[in-house]
Amino acid sequence: MASHVASMAATAYAKAQNAPDLKGSSFADAELAVNNSNFIKTYDVLVGDKGRAHLMPKRGIAVLCCMDARLDPNAMLGLEVGDAHIIRNGGGRAADALRSLIGSQEALQTREIIVIHHEDCGYSHASTWVIQKALKARTEPAAHPLVDQVSLQEFTDPRESVAEDVAFLREHPLVHPDSKDKISGWVYQVSNGELKRVC
Ligand SMILES: [Zn+2]
Repeated sequence: MASHVASMAATAYAKAQNAPDLKGSSFADAELAVNNSNFIKTYDVLVGDKGRAHLMPKRGIAVLCCMDARLDPNAMLGLEVGDAHIIRNGGGRAADALRSLIGSQEALQTREIIVIHHEDCGYSHASTWVIQKALKARTEPAAHPLVDQVSLQEFTDPRESVAEDVAFLREHPLVHPDSKDKISGWVYQVSNGELKRVC
């Protein structure tokens, strides 16, 4: 009975969250090749020389943004292919992005960093404790020490988290000194596409 109730609750949650339909064949098996062959046909028009240009981002910008599927960083910023590094992770958290940011700055000479968090972020609804509990329920005890190391770096207010991450980058000894006054933090509104500057 309890599992039935839990299953009903899970179904209701999935509906509420517009959960993806995972019953069909994988995208990689069913659609990817056809989609890519269509992309190749339009490559010269949609990407062309911007895709074949030097690998250094033309505008010298690194954008750090949440991985949320509803966000299109180039579109919201008016940037094009080749203009900027787009570094994405859950929440758009800076500590998690350091490896990419260091490569972006040291090897590919970007100097401006734009950090974008957003309203209705999954990482503002999630809880490390709940995820650890779920992981422990579906893994062997041998994996549980790894589960204990998992942190979602969740937050409640994207204005606070983006300010924290900008401060983290400004103070970080490995972030390039020439970029310290060119690090800004923004919150994106999923309802209308507006970016509001926080810092
Ligand atoms: Zn998010």
